[in-house]
Formats: sequence, structure tokens, C-alpha cells
Amino acid sequence: MTDATRFWAGACALAATAFLSAGAVSAQEGPRWSLAIHGGAGVIERNSLTPEQDGAYREALARALAAGEEVLAGGGSALDAVTIAVQVLEDDPLFNAGRGAVFTAAGVNELDAAIMDGESLQAGAVAGVTRTRHPVRLARAVMEVSPHVMLIGEGADAFAAEVGLEQVEPAFFFTERRWRGLEATLRARGDAIPPRPQGAPLPEGADLGPIRGQGLDENRFGTVGAVALDQQGRLAAATSTGGMTAKRWGRVGDVPVIGAGTYASNADGCAVSATGSGEYFIRATVARDICARMGAGLGARMAGQAEIDEVGALGGDGGVIVMGSDGLSAFAMNTSGMYRARVAWNRAAEIAIYADEESE
Ligand code: ASP
Repeated sequence: MTDATRFWAGACALAATAFLSAGAVSAQEGPRWSLAIHGGAGVIERNSLTPEQDGAYREALARALAAGEEVLAGGGSALDAVTIAVQVLEDDPLFNAGRGAVFTAAGVNELDAAIMDGESLQAGAVAGVTRTRHPVRLARAVMEVSPHVMLIGEGADAFAAEVGLEQVEPAFFFTERRWRGLEATLRARGDAIPPRPQGAPLPEGADLGPIRGQGLDENRFGTVGAVALDQQGRLAAATSTGGMTAKRWGRVGDVPVIGAGTYASNADGCAVSATGSGEYFIRATVARDICARMGAGLGARMAGQAEIDEVGALGGDGGVIVMGSDGLSAFAMNTSGMYRARVAWNRAAEIAIYADEESE
């Protein structure tokens, strides 16, 4: 990239940032709908992202938000909106979900996802999936087509194939960036580095994409999630992740644990998707707890923050996106950043990364 191109890429990214984070609320009448998404929380500081990297994340969030917005603005269901928003992020190699997921210590991508319908309290979840391109669609199929709530491993992939969901070679999920993250973690731990997955591109000249990993904690970034309210007043939540880099022993985090990383309940007027140190989010039953707080009358912002404070007190870090039945969404985190975005019937798209960016 020449200096001039670099300058323009940076300038465009900054212009997009200013535009996308405007988030003006208008008094627009009409049926309410609302969508909020996240792309993971962690140590994300301004000096750890170049303008190009910052812009790439914002553009990726904007694409997922637009896909969900189209569904909701057109009168579609909250379930469809969270499914498509998460699916778009799963396909984006920037995020730790679907393609671009982190690796286990054995050098495999094991994917977890969950979805919940707030109106019916139906839910579906999968863990340790290795061949299904869109784990969120599989979680949804578990909810809608199977008599179960949670499927794991090979059985989950077999079910996906049976219901006609796209199957891919495991190397489909490979990215050089995440492989380097695995190598660094294993080296620091003094553990052996597994062979590169079959079918992965050769390391020479491999394209790292817009992210070069400088200053980024490659271990755990980019879990994705969405919460939505549709014009019929239905709430839904979905989350998808590759989990933690170098995880072992079939480790599963909070994401597919209904009530921990994902929950929605129309009765409580609440939908939640979480991201962070999963072990703590499971122990705090984060998503269900937030819904209980909201059912007892707390607003999305207060409920989310109170819960994140509890996670912090346990020693965990991360963030949540919360949607209320009034269509007001909130972001809460105890990290320096969370990739996040929202849009609603009465507010323009708003995109943020750093904790101190405007997001009421
Ligand atoms: N919560 C995810 C897990 O523990 C990771 C993350 O959100 O960063 O698997």
C-alpha cells in the first residue's frame, strides 16, 4: 500500500466512523423494531487498532446490522433478524465465530452457538461443531426441528447435514491470524504446536487480512451476538463463538449455555447476548439474571451494568448487549472495548468499539 492509499484508507475509515456513530434519535412514529449486535469484548484500545483495522471492524458491523435491519424494518421476525446478523458475522474472518474462529490446542476449530425465541421460550444450542458453516443456523434448527435444546460434536454436525445445512471442510474456518494466535499461546504455555490443519493454506505469503495482530489479545476476541425486537413485539437473542484459543478437553463456554451467554424472554421483556470469560458468565448465569432483573422492573442499561459488575466481582471480564420490550437497547462492559452496533425504528445506525464511545 502506498502512503497516499494508506492516507485515504485511513481518512475514509474515520469518515465512516463519524457518520456511523452519529446515532441520532428521532421522534419517528410507526411500529417499533430494534436491533443491537456485538462482535466481542476485550482489551481493545485506540492505539491497538490502525485506522484501517478500526474501519474494517466498523464496516463489518455495519454489514451485519444492515442485514438484520432489513428483516426488522420489512416486518420480519426478531428470530430471522438475529439469525441473519449473526450469520453475516460468522462469515466474516475478523470475528471469532464461524470462519475466523480461534483454534483448540489440537489445532481444530470447535464452534458453539445458541438462539432463543423470547415469545415461546424455545431455545436451541450447539457446542463443539466442526463442519457446519453457520453454527447459528444449526442452533436454530435444533430449536425448530429437533425435540432437543442442545446438541454437541459429531452428532450436531450429523444433524446439520440431515436437515440440509451447508457442510464444509474444517479448513474452511482457518485463518492465518488465529493460527498465529494459537502458536503464540501454546508457545507461552510451553505446549507443542500441532500440525497445520489439512487443507489450510501454506504459511508463506499467507494474507493476514486487515488485522496484523499488533497489540491485540488474539486469545479471545470476536464472539458475535445479536438481540432484537420485531414489529410484533417479539424478542430474540443469538450468539456464536469459537470459544477460547488453545482450549482443551472439550471445553465449552457460556455461549451455548442457555441462560449464561444467551437468553430471551418476552415475559420479562428482555433479550441478552454476552461475550467474555465464559467460565464466569456461566457461574453468574448472566443472561437469565439480566432478564430476571428486567422482569422485576429494571431498565436494560441498569440491569446489564449490575450484572457485569457481578461478573467483575467474581473475577470475570466481558460485556453484554441487552434489548428491552420497549426497543431500548443497552451495552454494558468492564473491558476497554466491545465491537458493537445498533439501529432502531427511531434511530440511525450507531457503531462503536471503545468503551468510552458514545452509547447511552
Ligand atoms: N464467551 C466466549 C467463551 O467463553 C468467549 C468470548 O466471548 O470472548 O467461549
